[in-house]
Amino acid sequence: MAILNADLHCHSVVSDGTLTPEALAARAKANGVELWALTDHDEIGGQHRAAAAAAAEGMHYLTGTEVSVTFAGETVHIVGLGFDPDDPAMRAGLEATRGGRGARAQEMAAQLAQVGIKGAYEGALRYVGNPELISRTHFARFLVEIGACRDTPEVFRKYLTEGKPGYVPHRWASLKDAVHWITDAGGMAVIAHPARYKFTPNEEYALFSEFKAHGGRAVEVVTGSHTAAEAVRYAATAKEFGLAASRGSDFHSPDESHTDLGRLPWLPGDLTPVWELLADRIR
Ligand code: AMP
Ligand code: MN
Ligand code: MN
Ligand code: MN
Repeated sequence: MAILNADLHCHSVVSDGTLTPEALAARAKANGVELWALTDHDEIGGQHRAAAAAAAEGMHYLTGTEVSVTFAGETVHIVGLGFDPDDPAMRAGLEATRGGRGARAQEMAAQLAQVGIKGAYEGALRYVGNPELISRTHFARFLVEIGACRDTPEVFRKYLTEGKPGYVPHRWASLKDAVHWITDAGGMAVIAHPARYKFTPNEEYALFSEFKAHGGRAVEVVTGSHTAAEAVRYAATAKEFGLAASRGSDFHSPDESHTDLGRLPWLPGDLTPVWELLADRIR
């Protein structure tokens, strides 16, 4: 069961990806994905399209999202899988989480203007597929377009991150709310790409134990954001905390993502894959 080409983390134009849900489904199928989930940031507006596209491609599907959370002063991402996409409390929670993005983007643009980069808000907007979801990724595409940086990794080294121009601290959802929205809607909460956070060992321990106490049940072990060594490390963490394991590319764009849909290592065979616990949610 661990040997299944599941890709349970990627983004469409409904958040900060560049492909439609239909194009992602076709690409996932072409790459051999057997079980797919679209996990747009703070959004589930693409879920019905993604499920229909997966069915048309003959691929199994789990509903998905990636919720932005603030924990110990850092942004943490919590993936939700297998929830009811029409659950009203979850829809309202995600809408509130998206709410501050417009004002944040205006502030980001004001900061960039101070270092001589004009028109960044309008420039970023040209890359936005969903007016409620303007993200740093859209600013990154604009900064590459005008030649301020060569590619998006360079953008995140020189701009938009703590201490750099265009960084605006933001308070996202609480860990408790995010886990409850997902689980109360019948889904499973998953800690996304744990190696990406800059936590001390104590803070990381607090994240995993509080996540579990709120009802969280899984962690991404194999992701496009992890090295092989990080996957080994978080496989051990999954066992230590009694969490199931997930696998996902975090694919955003053919031009930007180094890990393509479905093209990543298998989950270690001694872990419980999330799809085993979500069998009755798979469509
Ligand atoms: P936001 O939700 O607006 O803070 O934007 C976060 C998004 O920016 C992430 O989901 C990634 O798509 C992108 N991002 C953040 N850091 C990096 C990075 N170092 N390299 C490339 N993309 C990044
Ligand atoms: Mn993203
Ligand atoms: Mn993420
Ligand atoms: Mn993601």
